[in-house]
Amino acid sequence: MVILKSVNLNKTFKTKNLNISAVDNLNIEITKNQIFALVGESGSGKSTVAKLLTKLIKPDSGYILFKDYDIWQMKNPELLNFRKSIGIIFQDPYASLNPRMKIQSIIEEPLKIHNQYALDEIKTKVIEIVKEMGFDESILDRYPHQLSGGQRQRVAIGRALILNPEILIADEPLSALDISLQASLLQLLLKVKENKKMGILLITHDLNIVKTVSDKVAVMHLGRIVEEGQTDEVFTEPLHPYTRLLISSIPGFHRRNRKKTLKISAEQNLAWNLKGCRFFDRCNYKMAICENSIPELKIVKNRKVRCFLY
Ligand code: SF4
Ligand code: MG
Repeated sequence: MVILKSVNLNKTFKTKNLNISAVDNLNIEITKNQIFALVGESGSGKSTVAKLLTKLIKPDSGYILFKDYDIWQMKNPELLNFRKSIGIIFQDPYASLNPRMKIQSIIEEPLKIHNQYALDEIKTKVIEIVKEMGFDESILDRYPHQLSGGQRQRVAIGRALILNPEILIADEPLSALDISLQASLLQLLLKVKENKKMGILLITHDLNIVKTVSDKVAVMHLGRIVEEGQTDEVFTEPLHPYTRLLISSIPGFHRRNRKKTLKISAEQNLAWNLKGCRFFDRCNYKMAICENSIPELKIVKNRKVRCFLY
């Protein structure tokens, strides 16, 4: 069941010299009981997608539908229900928790904001979620600075889940943590998906994470989705030249190609200006048509690919 989706979504940022279409005609669907990964290099527009879907910024055009309701047309009680149904976690567990609040207050705050719960109900829910996140109750009396990075991120996840949302949007939730913690938090996310049949939008630049946990993946390159499909199929046979480059540069994957690591640089800025495919400058397969025409997303072999090769 599709809970949240975007329809022809566009967002442009103006800088001194150019207009950057950070999200260009985005159509994605987030379904219950599924981890959908949105992957791309930094600066590809992934975080803008997270902000658009959670109503933190307004699109220039297009729609975001929560159970078929346009989130920008919603009024209460639908709007309140939308807020309750979408949990968010961000990259930086240090910045996302109020340093002056005890963990108890941090986790119970969403319940209090929604103002539908009796005090003893709040207490029970908080203890329940804290245990689910692998803590004992003594954590509730502490402050964020007394916790490790991994503990803080688990608190942030607990806070995001306390209202029992249908969708969790996680923007680089693991990238501030070291590798050993990443593995245990990934297990936690998988458990959460299983137990709550939740839909998770996992935004990341880390293809190892995508491969380990996601059911579906969309590859984003400079504001455009270039490939989307079942994760195992995309990893087994990437079709878009950019997906191939990404997958060949994962450490430990296709080792022979490892040296071709990705460079993110000023060239990206220029690419926003291209009239055609934004991967043109970096593509080994480019053809004349790619320079001045924008490839559409087309269905190829059970997935979507945006490339004139297909
Ligand atoms: Fe390469 Fe052309 Fe495909 Fe773009 S459309 S990825 S330039 S082959
Ligand atoms: Mg980001």
